[in-house]
Amino acid sequence: MRIDIITVLPEMLEPFTTQSILGRAQKKGLAEIHVHNLRDYTTDKHRRVDDYPFGGFAGMVMQCQPIDDCIAALKAERDYDEIIYTSPDGEQFSQPMANELSLKKNIIILCGHYKGIDHRIREHLITREVSIGDYVLTGGELAAAVMADAIVRVLPGAIGDEQSALSDCFQDNMLSAPVYTRPADYKGWLVPDVLLSGHEAKIKEWELNQMIERTRKLRPDLLNE
Ligand code: SAH
Repeated sequence: MRIDIITVLPEMLEPFTTQSILGRAQKKGLAEIHVHNLRDYTTDKHRRVDDYPFGGFAGMVMQCQPIDDCIAALKAERDYDEIIYTSPDGEQFSQPMANELSLKKNIIILCGHYKGIDHRIREHLITREVSIGDYVLTGGELAAAVMADAIVRVLPGAIGDEQSALSDCFQDNMLSAPVYTRPADYKGWLVPDVLLSGHEAKIKEWELNQMIERTRKLRPDLLNE
């Protein structure tokens, strides 16, 4: 799949898109992430992309022209399944949404800045608006990085053991079971016996019970969904 991110701060996204899971997934050819500097698309001779809001409100607003031209340039190259705007008033990002978006071929993520973008872009070009939580960030870059990471992580082959992404928290609307590694006895802190038993069915049963118990205790809301 391909993710195009439009931003005024491309250097902020660079470390997220080139390292770790996103970096490796791209080397393996599972995903392509392209970051576009919105300033490359402005017709303003000072490379400005924002202006004062109509109505005399405080703050600056990102203008239509650079965003429209950047999206048009991308659309001229390929079809996009979604053109997403990161926004605190959008639909809340979640694991099911990450799974769903990972099945798309091409998506654009537009990062806002300042007071946000001219509303006409949202009305005419954006297909989906996504928030990463009920708090306000200074820009959409961290939201885009969070989304790209969660989306690429579930692509088959992106993380070492394919099973591992499927057994993560939230995949079945449940929290995952605790994990342990060697040594089995650390300062008298013991690993549950069953995990050392080699009895596969019992281990699976323990895992499921842990998932149910932890979800009931920590996130009962998930069980009602
Ligand atoms: N005035 C806007 C906030 C602008 S914050 C409002 O009150 O809704 C600047 C930019 O940061 C936004 O345009 C958006 O792209 C991004 N942003 C801020 N909080 C976000 C969140 N919780 N999720 C996703 N993007 C967010």
